[in-house]
Amino acid sequence: MEINLISDTVTKPTPEMLKAMMNAEVGDDVFMADPTVLALQEKIAALFGMEAGLFFPSGTMANQTALKLHTQPAEQVICDKWAHIYNFEGGGPSFNSGISCNLIDGYRGMFTAQQVLERINDKNNIHTPITSLVEIENTTNKGGGACWDINEIKKIRKVCDDHKLILHLDGARIFNALVAKNESPKEYGKLFDTISICLSKGLGAPIGSVLVGTHEHIKKSLRIRKLFGGAMRQVGYLAAAGNFALDHHIERLADDHRRAKELGEALEHCRFVKEVEPIETNIIIFYLNDLISQDDFVSYLKSKNILLISMGEGKMRMVTHLDFTEAMLKVVVDTLKSM
Ligand SMILES: *Cc1c(COP(=O)(O)O)cnc(C)c1O
Repeated sequence: MEINLISDTVTKPTPEMLKAMMNAEVGDDVFMADPTVLALQEKIAALFGMEAGLFFPSGTMANQTALKLHTQPAEQVICDKWAHIYNFEGGGPSFNSGISCNLIDGYRGMFTAQQVLERINDKNNIHTPITSLVEIENTTNKGGGACWDINEIKKIRKVCDDHKLILHLDGARIFNALVAKNESPKEYGKLFDTISICLSKGLGAPIGSVLVGTHEHIKKSLRIRKLFGGAMRQVGYLAAAGNFALDHHIERLADDHRRAKELGEALEHCRFVKEVEPIETNIIIFYLNDLISQDDFVSYLKSKNILLISMGEGKMRMVTHLDFTEAMLKVVVDTLKSM
C-alpha cells in the first residue's frame, strides 16, 4: 500500500465520480454547447454569489487569465512573496501579461491592509509602474494551508475601493478555508472581483478549475482562455467530475483537516523533528533537526511506502487528501513513532 502525502493533487476519481463522468451529457464547449460544463460554471458562480463562471484545464491558467484580464503590460500586481502566481506559475505574470509583482513580506503567505497601502504606487509618478491589482491566496500554499482572517480581507477590499484597484483571490483551496473557518462562499464572492477555484485539489476531481466574476469579466476571459489554448471541446466528461465533487466532497474536507492535525501531533513527538508549523487545514509543514538529513528522512519513509517532499528552505511538507484514509493515518503515525 503506497501512502502518498506529496500533494492533494494525487487523488484518483472514486468509482462514483468515474460513473458520473462516464454518464455525462456533453457537447462542443467552444460553441458553449456542453450542458455539463455550463451547469458546473453556473453552479460555482451561484455558490459564490457571482454572475458567471468559466471552466479551465488548470488553476494556473485560471489565475493567469485573471491577471491578463485585470492588467495592461508594464502594470503591477501586489501579492505576497510566497504567492503561487509569483513562485509556481513559471514566470507567467511577466510572460503572459508583461506585468511585475510587487511583493509583500507577509506572515505565512498573508498580509495586512496597511502593507497593501504601503505598496501602492503614486499614479502621478511616471517612474513607478501603475498598480492595478491586489492578489490574495486562501488557503496559502507555501504558507502551510493557513487561512486568512476575513476581517483583514474586508479592510483590503476597502483599500482597493479607495484606490480603484481590482482584488483577485487565488482560491485553489478556498473550500479548505471555508470548512475550517465555517464561512460561506457568498461572503467571499462579495469581497473579490474574481476568484479562481481548483476542483483538482481537496475536492478530488482529476482536472479543472473555475474562474468566477461578472458577466463582463467572464466574457473577456473567454477570449483570453482561447488565446492561452485552453478552449476545450467535449470537456463535460471532466466537468462532471467537478459537479460530483461539489456535491459530495466539500464537507469531508474536515476529515482531511483532522488527520493533518493528528499527523502534526505525531511529528511533534518524533525525535528528528525540530518544529511543526500551526496546522489549520490539510497542509503540514515541519522542520527537521540535525539528527537526520532531509534526504535520509524522505528515503527512509519511502522505504516504508510513505511519500512526502521537501519544499526547499528546510521545509518538509505533507498534505492530506481524499485518498489518504484512516488506516493510512495509523500506518504513518506508527512509522513515525518507531523511527
Ligand atoms: C495548485 C495551486 C494552483 C493551481 O495549480 P494547477 O496545478 O495549475 O492547477 C494555484 N494556486 C495555488 C495556491 C495552488 O496551490
